[in-house]
Amino acid sequence: MEIVKKKACGTHIYRALDEVTAETAAFPNMEAINNNEELSTPCDYCQQAAIYVVSNIHSPTIS
Ligand SMILES: [Zn+2]
Repeated sequence: MEIVKKKACGTHIYRALDEVTAETAAFPNMEAINNNEELSTPCDYCQQAAIYVVSNIHSPTIS
């Protein structure tokens, strides 16, 4: 399965959810970024810091 991941700020979270849903035809998984190393990760749609990662990976514990 193709893995799709998008980073989004609070403004663009719904856009990211829509795009992941459209690209994967699956319900997206949304995770808040709370790792300090990732706090400076930019949003995929603007220059703000991303606060969410949206992906089609529902369980990161499954390898
Ligand atoms: Zn944004």
